[in-house]
Amino acid sequence: LEQLQRILEQHNSLSALPLYSARKIYSVEEVRRGIRGGELINHYQPKVRLPSGEVTGVEVLVRWQHPEDGLVLPDQFIDTAEEHGLIDELTRIVLVKALQDCWHWQQANLSLSIAVNISISNLNSVDYPDFIVQSAKEAGVDLSNVVLEVTESQLMHNPLTVLDILTRLRLKNITLSIDDFGTGHSSLTQLRDIPFNELKVDAGFVHDACHQPARRAILEASFDMARRLGMKTAAEGVENLDDWRFLTMQVKCDIAQGYFIAKPMPAGELFDWMQEWEARRPSLMGFKP
Ligand code: C2E
Ligand code: MG
Ligand code: MG
Ligand code: MG
Repeated sequence: LEQLQRILEQHNSLSALPLYSARKIYSVEEVRRGIRGGELINHYQPKVRLPSGEVTGVEVLVRWQHPEDGLVLPDQFIDTAEEHGLIDELTRIVLVKALQDCWHWQQANLSLSIAVNISISNLNSVDYPDFIVQSAKEAGVDLSNVVLEVTESQLMHNPLTVLDILTRLRLKNITLSIDDFGTGHSSLTQLRDIPFNELKVDAGFVHDACHQPARRAILEASFDMARRLGMKTAAEGVENLDDWRFLTMQVKCDIAQGYFIAKPMPAGELFDWMQEWEARRPSLMGFKP
């Protein structure tokens, strides 16, 4: 019983969500209607540099503004979209909107990169690199401001095509990030061959790593490997000051993201958040490696 208690405690601290949340799964017809009916909206979560806290960019996290159910999170519809050939359409809508928002920020003198989550089917369509190049051109955004986040678990499908497409994207000066590292099954060959710029360790190894030796071991070993491969290190799931301090002073992580810094927010709230963050940032700058 004690053991079970420990496992449950660990599980709870892994996620901000309750253990058993009512989670509605939407039918493909509904998801299709939502995507085509213009009900997707982009939320943005800041990524900041350590130890300074300077904002480097934002990650786009899609939400579905459902007419009856309110704001629906991606884990309730992304899988369905992937399984039924709708994910290309979804990613395109998300990317185009993000590029437009990025252009507006640039006009306001805010230079922010935008990180977009992409799916395996994007990486299997040979015209995807051209689509990104064309969309960025139309939006007036330089490709050096575009980051693509690919989850580790997606890399193993069709590895040769994935290698080809990611290499072509990298040659266009797009930044490549490997997302949720530690939860997938990428081979070391993929890591060696694909020109990733950033390795982002999954939240499950980040939050509370200072008190949990197993998390710490995996976090530090992953970052050590990333550095040796010439990649920047990033951590998601930074939830409190202990996490921030540990990543800055002990782990010397490059980029941090998490609720401690900011939750994902609509584009319109970003300016206010930036002002609050600039006021709060000096209190965090004392934590140096
Ligand atoms: P992800 O790319 O790993 O994004 C991070 C997830 O962790 C987001 O959940 C974010 O809201 C959440 N998060 C951020 N900070 C914290 C924190 O401090 N603690 C905890 N516990 N969680 C935090 P969200 O928005 O529900 O997205 C879930 C996943 O859905 C994303 O995981 C991503 O894989 C996928 N996704 C989101 N938008 C898109 C999209 O446009 N296209 C595709 N293909 N996938 C997307
Ligand atoms: Mg991501
Ligand atoms: Mg992630
Ligand atoms: Mg994650």
